[in-house]
Amino acid sequence: MLNIVLFGPPGAGKGTQAEKLISKYNLVHLSTGDIFRVNIKGETELGKLAKSYMDGGNLVPDEVTIKMLETEVDKNPQAEGFIFDGFPRTTTQAEALEAFLKGKGTTISVMLALDVAEKELIKRLLLRGQDSGRADDANEEVITNRISVYNKQTAVVADFYSQQNKFQKVNGIGSVEEIFDRLCVAIDGYKVSM
Ligand code: ADP
Repeated sequence: MLNIVLFGPPGAGKGTQAEKLISKYNLVHLSTGDIFRVNIKGETELGKLAKSYMDGGNLVPDEVTIKMLETEVDKNPQAEGFIFDGFPRTTTQAEALEAFLKGKGTTISVMLALDVAEKELIKRLLLRGQDSGRADDANEEVITNRISVYNKQTAVVADFYSQQNKFQKVNGIGSVEEIFDRLCVAIDGYKVSM
């Protein structure tokens, strides 16, 4: 299996690139943010719980997020691999994912981290907020909080994969196609070494 963690701060372009990567490599895209938003729209119990955290730009509790992610993986028993987008966002989530995949006889192949400067992130998120309908993109304070949560709680997850020699940084500035090509080069390089 080819299991990729697509990593990077809010606004780095993970969702856009994930959509392109899944069709090229025949993978299943699991975006925890998207799954939460579907639940909020459907007014499920999970959605109601997640909403207050998301609206403030804070993380949904690990226990809830991990359980949800595992359920989504289990819905795709035929998958050739997954792109995890927005997960893991804490070291606890990374450890849980590792144990869960190990139980299935597989593991994370590589973490690809999109590298984008903070000023550019805020610009992109505010622009997205104009038409995405996402409450967390419309307010600069919430955006700043998401970036600060990323720096405080999420950035360390890179060390977890770095220690396993699975971390690869990719320049996230340029056109969608340019960034996509960089990601493909990284994935193809990994596949050759497999
Ligand atoms: P972005 O990366 O642009 O912030 P996402 O759609 O990935 O957007 O996430 C939106 C929100 O969903 C986060 O701010 C957080 O509240 C919640 N969320 C998504 N993934 C996780 C996760 N792995 N753990 C906890 N909360 C999460």
